[in-house]
Amino acid sequence: MNKEELMRRAIALSEQSVLAGGGPFGAVIARNGEIVAEASNSVTLDHDPTAHAEVNAIRLASRKLGTFDLSGCDIFTSCEPCPMCLGAIYWAHLDTIYYANDRKDAARIGFDDDFIYREIALKPDERHKKMQLLLPDEARKAFEMWQQNDEKTEY
Ligand SMILES: [Zn+2]
Repeated sequence: MNKEELMRRAIALSEQSVLAGGGPFGAVIARNGEIVAEASNSVTLDHDPTAHAEVNAIRLASRKLGTFDLSGCDIFTSCEPCPMCLGAIYWAHLDTIYYANDRKDAARIGFDDDFIYREIALKPDERHKKMQLLLPDEARKAFEMWQQNDEKTEY
């Protein structure tokens, strides 16, 4: 499948999702033009605030390929990834992100993607969400254990 066909599949998933009671988002992960996994948003259906189309597709693709590293795969998403999904895409090492609607389009229909992007750009004490450093000395031990573990699987 070419890029446009893969994006049209993501867009079709976004429309099917609305009809099924989910959010208006769909995503396809493909390798060399072949679909590895596809998913739609299931936040309300699964009672899971992290069940965005991109995260759902990454989980399915990783399980299918038996790896946490999706290098060599691209993602086609019906809307620009929110900060959570963008982070997940970086963690998954996906190659190229193709998107159709953008964060401003999502804001116009009531989604917080653009708001969260603007929050990230602020200093922690300027954000709406309160953040407080707590027990950093006690938390450091796990990091030292990780650093000293020669058997670890790095990611
Ligand atoms: Zn997202």
